[in-house]
Amino acid sequence: MSIIADCHMHTSFSGDSEAPMEDMIERSIALGLKEITITEHMDYDFIYTEDEEDGFFEVDTDAYRAKYLECHEKYADRIRVNFGIELGMQMHINEKNSAYAKSFPFDFIIGSSHLCNKKDPYLPSFWEGRDEKEGWHEYFESIKDIVSSYDDFDTYGHLDYVLRYGPTRNKNFNLDEFRDDIDKILKTLIEKGKGIEANTSGYHYEMGGPHPCAGILKRYRELGGEILTIGSDAHKPEAVAAGFEDVRDLLFECGFERYCIFHERKPEFHRL
Ligand SMILES: [Zn+2]
Ligand SMILES: [Zn+2]
Repeated sequence: MSIIADCHMHTSFSGDSEAPMEDMIERSIALGLKEITITEHMDYDFIYTEDEEDGFFEVDTDAYRAKYLECHEKYADRIRVNFGIELGMQMHINEKNSAYAKSFPFDFIIGSSHLCNKKDPYLPSFWEGRDEKEGWHEYFESIKDIVSSYDDFDTYGHLDYVLRYGPTRNKNFNLDEFRDDIDKILKTLIEKGKGIEANTSGYHYEMGGPHPCAGILKRYRELGGEILTIGSDAHKPEAVAAGFEDVRDLLFECGFERYCIFHERKPEFHRL
């Protein structure tokens, strides 16, 4: 067996991708995938830099849906294409996100923290004047608050995304120092029947593994978590399903035997 679906990818409807939807789908077919889920960015109240216009990460969902339906039909005999969204989470927009999540017939919603307390870990200003551990702590605390107060999502995306952009990246990250926050996040997700994703872009960003790291994935499983999705977070065709062989081995080591693909917001389980 191999992993038959890539459940996190972007196309030109996302501000940071120029890939035509057809190109992403055709690459997925060429790789032998049976299914993909497109998950464009919807990040309300993003902090934009000079290069980006306001709304850069807010997908035109009607246009996206129309193109999705066209492609879904066009490729139906070769691959199943699912309609998803990557919803940017912030506490102060919970209500707005909730209304949005209910307003389209999504197959799958990834909740992702790209920002933290109205700040962007991608920017140096997030890290300036403090120990990087403080930045990590602030990020995990914010996810802890969000998962306990918000329900309209299926899996939490790249849970340790913050490590990608800190001064030393993940070199000095010791999971034990964040055990309380991580355990609380994972237990809340499990209690609510929510999943996490293994986001293989971590390999591309030289994290030495997926987002989140093996320690967090293993802990989710140890605590009884079963809902796991796998996605490349590809923004161009070459990145579709990148790292899937590596992550499959890693997930076995972390105790997983199954992963999920969501249809109409419900998980379908597959053997790894
Ligand atoms: Zn993301
Ligand atoms: Zn993404």
